[in-house]
Amino acid sequence: MDDFREESLTEQEGSLLQPFITNLDRSVFGLRNLPEVVKGALFSRYSRSDKSLRRILLDEFIKAPEASFTRIVGEVVNNNNDQLVATQQAEAFYDRVLIGYGDDSVAELGGAHIACEGISNIAAKVLEDSRIGISPLEKSTRYVPFNRKINGRYSYYREPLIIASTYAERYEATLDHLFDTYTALIEPLLSWVQSCTPKDTNTSERAYNSATRAKTLDILRGLLPMATLTNVGLFGNGRAFEYLLVKLAASPHEEVRMLGISMQQELDQIIPSFVKRAKTERGVQYARYLSTNAKHTQLLAQKLFEQIKPASTSTVQLVEYDPDAEIKVVAAILYPHTDLTFDQIKEYVIGLSAQERVEIIDTYLGERESRFHRPGRAFEETYYTFDLLADLGAYRDLHRHRVLTQERQHYSTHHGYVVPIELEEANLAQDYCKALEYAAQTTELISKDLPDAAQYIVPFAYRIRWRMKLNLREVYHLVELRSSRQGHPSYRTIAQEIYRQISAIHPALIANMRFVDLNDYALERLAAEQRIDSKLKQRDQNQIPKS
Ligand SMILES: Cc1cc2nc3c(=O)[nH]c(=O)nc-3n(C[C@H](O)[C@H](O)[C@H](O)COP(=O)(O)OP(=O)(O)OC[C@H]3O[C@@H](n4cnc5c(N)ncnc54)[C@H](O)[C@@H]3O)c2cc1C
Repeated sequence: MDDFREESLTEQEGSLLQPFITNLDRSVFGLRNLPEVVKGALFSRYSRSDKSLRRILLDEFIKAPEASFTRIVGEVVNNNNDQLVATQQAEAFYDRVLIGYGDDSVAELGGAHIACEGISNIAAKVLEDSRIGISPLEKSTRYVPFNRKINGRYSYYREPLIIASTYAERYEATLDHLFDTYTALIEPLLSWVQSCTPKDTNTSERAYNSATRAKTLDILRGLLPMATLTNVGLFGNGRAFEYLLVKLAASPHEEVRMLGISMQQELDQIIPSFVKRAKTERGVQYARYLSTNAKHTQLLAQKLFEQIKPASTSTVQLVEYDPDAEIKVVAAILYPHTDLTFDQIKEYVIGLSAQERVEIIDTYLGERESRFHRPGRAFEETYYTFDLLADLGAYRDLHRHRVLTQERQHYSTHHGYVVPIELEEANLAQDYCKALEYAAQTTELISKDLPDAAQYIVPFAYRIRWRMKLNLREVYHLVELRSSRQGHPSYRTIAQEIYRQISAIHPALIANMRFVDLNDYALERLAAEQRIDSKLKQRDQNQIPKS
């Protein structure tokens, strides 16, 4: 590879380039210390030129006065806010380069990290609804207690329409009651958890306290309402952010629309050229298109189903699958290794015995030594549709999977709530239920006038219905990850049930799912905390200087 050399650089060119690339003379190199817009524009030129990237960077950016390179990059290196001004001055140049590329995908070549702090769970779920191109991370309800007061007030969103209405006092009383109950139950429940699972001699104090505290907060999270304020960090590329901004602008919730405006302001300072269309007439029209259609479809659905009451269902209901899944998956396994058509291979597979098909599947999956040894694309050949009805806490967790289709219904109190068995056993369920029922009454009351705003009151213990359509490859990933011991029991049972239902119809396809965990555990986090202890011990041992 090192022989690939288009031209040599002069010493002066090398020193100009050196701060921005990881090496000057090899055919594989990385970019560094460059603003996102420069990297995006550079790559877009790269695809339209027969010059090397180093040469383009030198001739068309570093040496081109129009690119304001020295100012933009110099300011980055000096960590000066004037980078924004310099980028704006050079915007015409970057726009021309990017438009010259002619494809929207160029906006995927630059990214940004954005922190959204003090947003409600309603807003957080809209951000996390993103799939391709956005990676979110949210403050955990397992490791962080949500009982801290700031200036004497719990951290929940005061929804402006409600606060401006006659419901303001009732709204705050209801949410305060939820947070008061959450706070009051932490210590008694922690004592109960510890009394049920005493520390053994092999477990450190640290691991034991972390695991029992995590268990306590897991049990109590059902009291937290959707208004609970959280922090979400996002990393994403420009194209994904642009679409996200449009979706935020189309939201029925004022908080979410305002969040979109704030995010645009910040993204304009990092990747302005990639997100600018979200605020142009085109972006505004797109948001209007999304919100108008959503409103009209909602009205239509309400009219169509006015007289129909929801049927009662189990938590996990498999509503659709392909009876020919096994034949199609086996054909897809063989496909890349032949020059036959998919139909020919399928015909051949139909003629095989069940045992012969199993042998093909086993060969394809080989020895899976961990859940990270995932099936390949042949397992994307078949899909399953599930109708799920589970507590919002479980929904929030499973919602984070992106390689599938998920769509939820409104946050409501219509489907009742879930009481963790531990609260019953600890004799602490009474206050928990009282707070939840008061929240349901308030939600019902306010939703008559303000249905969108009332969704902020719904606590995580209430059940929500959502649809999940996923292929078999994602089934392996989701079920093995989400049934693992350290998971929350409410989504572990869903993952285990998905496994059982697919096993019943497609045993040969699911037989290699070796890392599904069907056990129940008293203290889910304990094993993970013990592993952390071993790592800490190992690290400390490595740090001890050898004499
Ligand atoms: C025990 C546990 C604790 C957790 N704690 C927290 C927490 O405190 N805070 C929090 O925010 N989340 C938490 N999560 C959620 C976690 O961060 C993931 O969002 C979630 O598990 C989805 O996993 P995934 O990305 O592997 O799955 P999917 O989104 O379903 O993706 C499937 C696979 O596709 C690939 N993939 C998908 N998207 C990308 C991408 N953009 N780039 C590269 N590869 C991609 C990856 O290989 C991925 O494993 C927790 C999850 C678990 C299981």
